[in-house]
Amino acid sequence: MILDGKAVSEKRLEILKEKIEESGLYPRLATVIVGEDPASQMYVRMKHRACERVGIGSIGIELPADATTGRVLEAVTRLNDDPDINGILVQLPLPAGLDTTRVIDAVAPGKDVDGFHPCNLGRLFSGSPVFSPCTPQGVMTILEEYKIPIAGKRAVIVGRSIDVGRPMAALLLNADATVTICHSKTENLAAEMQNADILISAIGRAKFVGPEMVKEGATVIDVGINQDEQGRLCGDVDFEAVKGRAGAITPVPGGVGPMTIATLMENTFRAAKMRTCDNNTVW
Ligand code: NDP
Repeated sequence: MILDGKAVSEKRLEILKEKIEESGLYPRLATVIVGEDPASQMYVRMKHRACERVGIGSIGIELPADATTGRVLEAVTRLNDDPDINGILVQLPLPAGLDTTRVIDAVAPGKDVDGFHPCNLGRLFSGSPVFSPCTPQGVMTILEEYKIPIAGKRAVIVGRSIDVGRPMAALLLNADATVTICHSKTENLAAEMQNADILISAIGRAKFVGPEMVKEGATVIDVGINQDEQGRLCGDVDFEAVKGRAGAITPVPGGVGPMTIATLMENTFRAAKMRTCDNNTVW
């Protein structure tokens, strides 16, 4: 079974658009981008387009590549204080030399629709998330939409980053999976991966995962975004070689990627609702 993230995201965005219309709210997202990295610019443009589509207002703050950490913090503080802004997204990675941790920590937790603030990560790990990071939450949505059983299943995540691997582990644990996190120092990586009922790869290496690493019938989720030798977009998983062995698999493109943006939109609506309902007391 091909897990069609593009189709799931389209469906979720249509539902969200209706919910926003019904709510009478006009949620607003602010993006902050520093420098001119073409990939980051493209991601930010896609996020603004998705906002427009579902009825979320968006503004973009663009800072030059030589902006100091102080200048980025100033921009974030202004957005924190702006009552018209519900969600703030600082596009990562920031240029080298900027203090990413300070910037992430500066975003008001109630507007942290990326879910990277320690408050939000802490809540996620304590089992009562408010905003979960968009990519792993998007993976959970795909699993739910396709009714892939999670409780009691063995989930193996390859990659332990703050934006993908670690929150992915927390989400799966919260959903009662038995979770293993692997990384570059893991011994017998292939043996760990072969145990997985749900295998999630978030490494960033083109076609790293071959069929010999996958248990027959496993669900394989490919978070990776890479280029192959011909410069074509591909995931961490050797899709053609693995698809016959997996029970279900996400393609790249058209798998996890579109879900990340759909989840960002859902988080932004949630932030707007929380503010209106005076439900912000969790902070
Ligand atoms: P990071 O570089 O932050 O983390 C990569 C992780 O993979 C690290 O934990 C690293 O281990 C581990 N790793 C690297 N090589 C190996 C290896 N040979 N064996 C085992 N583990 C390894 O990347 P991200 O988590 O941010 O992103 C991962 C991939 O997902 C990238 O391709 C990125 O582009 C993509 N991505 C896709 C998104 C989407 O929307 N679809 C969103 C975010 C990311 P160690 O910690 O030991 O160094």
